[in-house]
Amino acid sequence: MNTAYIAFGSNLATPFDQIKQAMLSIAELGLLVTISPLYASKAVGPGSQPDYINGVCKLHTSLEPYALLSCLQNIEQQQGRERSVKNAARTLDLDILLFNQISQSDPNLILPHPRMHERNFVIFPLLDIEPQLEIPSWGSIFNISQQLNLIDLKKLDIVV
Ligand code: ADP
Ligand code: MG
Repeated sequence: MNTAYIAFGSNLATPFDQIKQAMLSIAELGLLVTISPLYASKAVGPGSQPDYINGVCKLHTSLEPYALLSCLQNIEQQQGRERSVKNAARTLDLDILLFNQISQSDPNLILPHPRMHERNFVIFPLLDIEPQLEIPSWGSIFNISQQLNLIDLKKLDIVV
């Protein structure tokens, strides 16, 4: 069995509903072990965009990394994701943060996710669910979280 950590984010239409639907779809890819608390974050993309809802989940799956990526892209598509400019607002974004302890630099699937360590909306929910996690190349989740701040990030009371 493989262990994958997946980040999710949405800032268009009804983010909470899309995230709930995404969790149902991801649960069909294996055993959905944990879903983190949800966070609201400010969009970093172009123009003025609505706030994001973000979180991470942990999945046990027999799928191989590229098969998982393709399933996640299908889920994004089913939920009406349109790819336009970089960091454009989106109904649903699903990124693979970690897949077992794999480190690879294939642009189609970079592992660990190349920007995860600088994103507070990824690191804090990951710290919530896996405080002992060691990330290949970057070390402990706790140490990484110490380099980040909580500016523009707010833990929400709602759960999936
Ligand atoms: P972003 O998430 O960077 O805003 P996209 O969701 O449109 O942008 O993803 C762009 C491409 O990133 C995808 O086609 C995918 O092949 C590639 N990619 C590379 N590494 C990863 C990863 N760890 N998880 C998800 N996609 C990745
Ligand atoms: Mg993505």
